Amino acid sequence: MANQEDKFKKVIAHAKEYGYIFGSSEIYDGLSAVYDYGQNGAELKKNIREYWWKSMVFMHQNIVGLDASIFMHPTTWKASGHVDAFTDPLIDNKDSKKRYRADVLIEDYAEKLNIKAQKEIAKAKKRFGDAFDEAQFAATNPRVVKYLSEREEVLKRMGASLEKEDLNDVKALIEELGIADPDTGSKNWTDVRQFNLMFGTKLGASADTATDLYLRPETAQGIFVNFLNVQKTGRMKIPFGIAQTGKAFRNEIVARQFIFRMREFEQMEMQFFVKPGDEMKWYDYWKETRLNWHLSLGLGEENYRFHDHDKLAHYANAAADIEFNFPFGFKELEGIHSRTDFDLKAHEEFSGRKLQFFDPELKESYTPYVVETSVGLDRMFLAVFSTALQDETLEDGSTRVVLKLPAVVAPVKAAVLPLVKKDGLPEIAQQIIDELKWNFNVVYDEKDAIGRRYRRQDANGTPLCITVDHDTLTDQTVTIRDRDTMEQKRVAIKDLKTLISERVDMEYWLK
Ligand code: ATP
Repeated sequence: MANQEDKFKKVIAHAKEYGYIFGSSEIYDGLSAVYDYGQNGAELKKNIREYWWKSMVFMHQNIVGLDASIFMHPTTWKASGHVDAFTDPLIDNKDSKKRYRADVLIEDYAEKLNIKAQKEIAKAKKRFGDAFDEAQFAATNPRVVKYLSEREEVLKRMGASLEKEDLNDVKALIEELGIADPDTGSKNWTDVRQFNLMFGTKLGASADTATDLYLRPETAQGIFVNFLNVQKTGRMKIPFGIAQTGKAFRNEIVARQFIFRMREFEQMEMQFFVKPGDEMKWYDYWKETRLNWHLSLGLGEENYRFHDHDKLAHYANAAADIEFNFPFGFKELEGIHSRTDFDLKAHEEFSGRKLQFFDPELKESYTPYVVETSVGLDRMFLAVFSTALQDETLEDGSTRVVLKLPAVVAPVKAAVLPLVKKDGLPEIAQQIIDELKWNFNVVYDEKDAIGRRYRRQDANGTPLCITVDHDTLTDQTVTIRDRDTMEQKRVAIKDLKTLISERVDMEYWLK
């Protein structure tokens, strides 16, 4: 655990030191759970977005893009269910004035019971050695049975109370279990209330005519309300998809964990419209396709797993998360949901407009079903960045910090370095940059000894370094050094473009 925390702190510090992520409005002491992307972060984020966009829109003839507004007619959010149901149960501690999610307090309590049970099991395992039957021990040891059954009861009761909207019972449970404020130990709690996560704002100049608006809490609804616009003008036939990336806003009650849970974040969503009855086939297709997209980045198969939902949201008939092994454990990275015709039907009802597709083969109209893939761009960023950051011990015993970003998304593709600051080498380096800059983001660096410059680029995540030396003057060749293997090769300047392409182009990653 300490190790994990340590690693996470390093990730946050490195992201700041190398211009990837800053706290928002830091000079005013920041704004909680809001972040700014610096010079490198903006590039990395843009590259991840583009990698997603091209894999969706360019690679599928039946998927097109959309860029809907953040503001939408307020009835949108009534139809979608967000006004009534996009809530978390919150509780305040009267002494510490700290606010918590009531469900998270109870879940943490349940997890402690689980940890106690696992400790007993681990102890017994040690005692009994090879002869140990873990399943039997867990089922029969009185202490383990007690911990695990209490855990189950607690979660079951919470689930039932939340389902019934019985918030008094949620509070009663917190009191019965003796759950205290994790920060101060106080048990002086307020009642539990539902807290809507949408940010409200106003449209219009004068107080009495102003309309209440919300900042969108997801990008999906912009796709649903434009379903017919896109279908008609694009002459799309079912099945087809609409992809969109953009900001979403949620007033998260507890927003820790850096860019994992933000109040302003970016989503990359695709809604795939299918014939009713075909949705499970497409749901399976998109689960597999999306996992393969993640795997193409080479962060390690062992870092992903599916979590299939047993308890489904009101709009879904199947749902799964792709979870990623973040520095704080496996957590949701992407959601894949079979949303039935819930959204289009709701918008038909609230708007009074038909949102149906006329199937020319069946010669009839129907409301399509929807399979959605929804991934957080910032969470993708964290997954890529935190896995890439490594402390490496080299053969000679020295160490280096290296940011092994997948080259396809790395902010800077190559650094061009003159060995010395004289003899015409800087000028040649500049000429190389002038040729490469049309295709790649490249930088120039002439400060410090070459070894230090390599290390700086390693820590910055730059996959390639191109060094101009005195031989370059006579034979038009340079050294190209690979960040990950640290291998150096002598190559002709005229071949650089092809060599870099082969390392960084999407074609070589996604295929
Ligand atoms: P969680 O359970 O973690 O709150 P969610 O199930 O509410 O997430 P969805 O509504 O399915 O999330 O949103 C789709 C994706 O958007 C998530 O998989 C995640 O990557 C991203 N996302 C959601 N909320 C946030 C947030 N507050 N900050 C950053 N990314 C987020």
